[in-house]
Amino acid sequence: MRCRLGPSTIVFLHAHPDDEASQTSGSMARAVDDGHRVVLVTATDGDHGMPPEDLAEGETVVDRRRRELEASSRAIGLHRVVWLGYADSGMSGWEQNSGEGAFVGVDVDEAAARVASVLDEEDADVVVGYDWHGGYGHPDHVQVHRVLHRATDLAARRPRVLEATMNRDAMRAMSG
Ligand SMILES: [Zn+2]
Repeated sequence: MRCRLGPSTIVFLHAHPDDEASQTSGSMARAVDDGHRVVLVTATDGDHGMPPEDLAEGETVVDRRRRELEASSRAIGLHRVVWLGYADSGMSGWEQNSGEGAFVGVDVDEAAARVASVLDEEDADVVVGYDWHGGYGHPDHVQVHRVLHRATDLAARRPRVLEATMNRDAMRAMSG
């Protein structure tokens, strides 16, 4: 890995709009504070998230997700958000897994090429995705892991790869 002095560019790859907030918002905000350029790539539209009770007439879950992501990125101080727009695959075993454009079913090389082009545009020093289990086994999160590593192979200048993970004891305590 090439070592650089001064600010770096860090690209975070997340599965759904809201994962940036629940999983890496603290690290992102700190990196922004420390003067680094922080870019978020969100793979899916988050369509299968829980519909909020105050959804307005004509407003879709995806509309809400976009607005929430804009607010989240402002709060964190992100420099750029890239929305890949794949369909949310739902949890394991859901029929949406095989739906049109479901992220879990897209060709890894195709999705990775799109992420690699962001890494190249940004001349990224670091890319952050998920561990092999996607933190908790959600099919879209596991797909992020695959796409992360393939995109790194395809990038013109190989960035350092980090995998966000979750604290097993804390997760057990929450579900216990
Ligand atoms: Zn997610």
